[in-house]
Amino acid sequence: MPQISIVVPCYNESEVIETFHTTLVGVLEPTGRSFEICYVDDGSGDHTRVHLQQLASADPRIRYTSFSRNFGKESAMLAGLRMAQGDAVVVMDADLQHPPHLIPRMLELREHGYDQVVAQRDRAGEGAVRTGLSRAYYRLVRRFMEVEVIDGAGDFRLLSRRAVDAILALPESNRFSKGLFSWIGFDTATFPYENALRAAGQSKWGGRRLLNYGIDGLLSFNSRPLRLAVHTGLWLFLSALVYALWIVANVLVDGVDTPGYATLITVMVGMGGVQIATLGVIGEYVGRIYHESKRRPHYIVRETDRTGRTDRTRGSDGRAEIPLPGGAPALPAGPVGPRIGERNW
Ligand code: UDP
Ligand code: MG
Repeated sequence: MPQISIVVPCYNESEVIETFHTTLVGVLEPTGRSFEICYVDDGSGDHTRVHLQQLASADPRIRYTSFSRNFGKESAMLAGLRMAQGDAVVVMDADLQHPPHLIPRMLELREHGYDQVVAQRDRAGEGAVRTGLSRAYYRLVRRFMEVEVIDGAGDFRLLSRRAVDAILALPESNRFSKGLFSWIGFDTATFPYENALRAAGQSKWGGRRLLNYGIDGLLSFNSRPLRLAVHTGLWLFLSALVYALWIVANVLVDGVDTPGYATLITVMVGMGGVQIATLGVIGEYVGRIYHESKRRPHYIVRETDRTGRTDRTRGSDGRAEIPLPGGAPALPAGPVGPRIGERNW
C-alpha cells in the first residue's frame, strides 16, 4: 500500500496535464514516501485519456480511470477516492490552481493527527462580480445549512484513510462533497494559500453551472427551504385572515364599500407566486427522491489502467481493430467477449 494517494479529476486538461504531472512528481519524490497518483478522466473530449495512458504505462505508480462520458467533477472525485489505496489521500485539481508544493505542508499537519487538512484559497485575481456572488452565497449557506462550509475551502484537501472510508460509506447519488467532507467531521486543520490562475485550458464552471452547483449544495444538506416555505405560507394565511376580518368589520360599520379589484388581484398574484415557489421547492426535493430511488451508478467506467491495454486494440464499436489472419471478420473471443466498459457500482 502506498503511503500517499493523489486523486486528480481531469476534464479536458490535455494542455496542462503533463506540466501538472511533472510538477507533482517533483514535489512527491523528495518527501521520500511511497505514493500513487490516481487520475480520473471525466469523459474528456480532447487527448487527456491518451496522455493518462502514456503516463500510466511508463510508471506503475500512475493509475487512471476513464469515464464513458462526462459525469461531473463530483463523480470523478468519488471514482478517484475509490481507487486510492494510500493511508493519506490528497484530492486536487489538474490545472495547477491547487499548488502541489503545499502537499508536504499538508502531510506535516496530518502527522500532527488531523484527519482532514484543507488548503483554503483567497480570492485574489478573481472577478469582482464572482467574488461578490460567492461571498453572498456562503453567507446564505452558513445561515441555512446544517453543516459548515467555508468560503474558499474547496476540494484541495488531504483526508486520512478513515475519513476517506467515511466518505465512501455515504451512499447518496447527489453528491455535494464540500458538504459531505464537513458532514463526516473529524479534526480538521485549515491553512490559507494565495489563489493561482489556471495554468492553461479553461474553467468548466460557467455562471449557470455554478448556480446549479449552488442550488445543489443548499438543497442537499438541509430541509430548511421546505420549512421556510411552510412558514411563509402560514404567515400569509394569517395576514389574509386578519385582512378578511378587517373587510368584514368595515362592511358592518360603513356598509358595502366599492368592490376592491386592485386588492383582490394583488392578493391573488401574491399568493400565486408563493404557491409556485413552494411547489418548486417541493418539486426539487421530490426530484431528488426520484433520482436517489433509481439507484443508478455514479459513473460508468470506459477503461482503467488495468483494462486500458485490451481496450486500445478495439475500435469505438468494441470490435477488434487488429486484422485477423486470412481476413476473417473479428468475432468476440470466447467467454471474454468484447469488453466495452466496466460497470462500477
Ligand atoms: N473537472 C472534472 N469534471 C468536470 C469539470 C471539471 O473532472 O465536469 C475537473 C477539472 O479537470 C479540474 C477540476 O475539476 O481538474 C476543477 O475544474 P475547473 O478548473 O474547471 O474549475 P475552477 O477551478 O474554475 O473552479
Ligand atoms: Mg481550476
